[in-house]
Amino acid sequence: MIKGKLYINGQWIESCSGKERDILNPFDASTIAMVAEGNRDDTKAAIKAARHAFDQGGWPQTPASERAKLLFKLADFIERDREEMARLESLDTGKTVEESRWDMDDIAGIFRYFAGLADKDGGEVIASPNPDSTSTVIREPVGVCGQVSPWNYPLLQASWKMAPALAAGCTIVMKPSEITPLTTLKVTELAEEAGFPAGVINTVLGPGPEVGAELAESDDVDLISFTGGIATGKTIMRAATGNVKKVALELGGKNPNIIFDDANFDLAVDYALNGVFFHAGQICSAGARVMVQSGIHDRFVEALRQRMERIVVGNGFDEKTQMGPLISAAHLAKVKNYIEIAKNEGAKLLLGGTRPTDPALQKGYFCMPTLFSECANDMRIVQEEVFGPVITIERFDTEEEAIERANDTIYGLSAGFWTSNVDRIERVSKALRFGTVWVNDFNVYFVQAPWGGYKQSGLGRELGKIGLEEYTEVKHIYRNYATKPINWFGG
Ligand code: NAD
Repeated sequence: MIKGKLYINGQWIESCSGKERDILNPFDASTIAMVAEGNRDDTKAAIKAARHAFDQGGWPQTPASERAKLLFKLADFIERDREEMARLESLDTGKTVEESRWDMDDIAGIFRYFAGLADKDGGEVIASPNPDSTSTVIREPVGVCGQVSPWNYPLLQASWKMAPALAAGCTIVMKPSEITPLTTLKVTELAEEAGFPAGVINTVLGPGPEVGAELAESDDVDLISFTGGIATGKTIMRAATGNVKKVALELGGKNPNIIFDDANFDLAVDYALNGVFFHAGQICSAGARVMVQSGIHDRFVEALRQRMERIVVGNGFDEKTQMGPLISAAHLAKVKNYIEIAKNEGAKLLLGGTRPTDPALQKGYFCMPTLFSECANDMRIVQEEVFGPVITIERFDTEEEAIERANDTIYGLSAGFWTSNVDRIERVSKALRFGTVWVNDFNVYFVQAPWGGYKQSGLGRELGKIGLEEYTEVKHIYRNYATKPINWFGG
């Protein structure tokens, strides 16, 4: 049985309350780990340690190239332990080990990218209105950062926050999702091995309304970065007003994937599957809302149905498995409820909507790939984030109609479209109101490109150069070297 503790001020400790939490394997609901369950007092201790490391510990003053060395070392350790970490992630989330291996490769790359950026920004000299002066703009670390991550890509989402914050010279209190803490604990161990000073990285496990809320409310935290659902994001935004801390939010999405008549048909079918079924559709950028132009609609839907029928659902540790279970019993119930809502709204169920019949999968939180056609823009199944292996199909006739309907959503995380018309590529990519637009592709992330949402999908950006800048304050230094008085108030 894996055991997990809190990591505060360079020490592995039990929680103040002595409470522990069972961590379950979504494949069969068995207990795989027991971890310390932190509360507000544990979080306060972690904030204090991070505050001290920032204010007195010298971390922000450590040369950026030294901080980078530690981050490079951490990336090397992640690569060294890649297979162990991938298996741990799959045990905790149910996703296939192959997907988790990709995640670990990505994560090592993320630490390397931000390590590389750490010492590249030497500030900027700007024009000053006074000839006897110089003006420079520099960036400094924001301070103590609270970081709250979700369960769907536990360590990947955590690394998008940890790597830039540490590169910028901030100190952090990381709170992983209470149901998937294992790889975040492992990376904390690796950070300790790499030699990060005490207090720079603190990891507190526990429930959102305790640990996460304390991070959002505390006057000693300078920035709160959150990835998760919209409702929690709004709660965090409100909680952060006490000391007007900086707020970064990566929230949900309902992402249209638009297939025009002139698309490369086979590619569009293939990528529509990639758009949704990784990690059983539990992806913020899942292209679960597929919109198909009338000319190819029926052929496309049938091709998609046939491919979906062949998706191999099972244990993520079986190398033949293509899709694992959902994360928890509660989440399975939520997805099943959406399937019922869709049926009641008049969507036509073409495939799935059930649990698998295989006796070996009965204990896990499985849901079969599900396809609804005849969907309309105003249906809840089209407008709300299901976060499961469910595709809805809407039919459209014109480009204008597709754009208008795709933009008719509270979300604005990502969208994709498929066409071979170069003029349409220009028009549609500009008209779609989303933080990322994929043309003839779907679900492509990489560390160099910024990620984040328009509208209620979030605030700020992660990844890319801007992902580092989010963890900095901008300071203007104006230096007057004039020797003559101004005598404005008389000589
Ligand atoms: P969630 O909002 O339930 O929880 C996310 C985190 O917030 C967890 O660590 C949780 O413990 C914590 N939390 C809960 N209540 C809190 C509170 N009152 N104060 C502070 N923290 C609190 O989300 P989830 O179910 O873990 O994740 C799924 C959601 O995350 C989906 O909506 C998905 O779209 C979104 N997501 C977005 C992105 C993105 O890049 N935009 C990436 C991954 C996931």
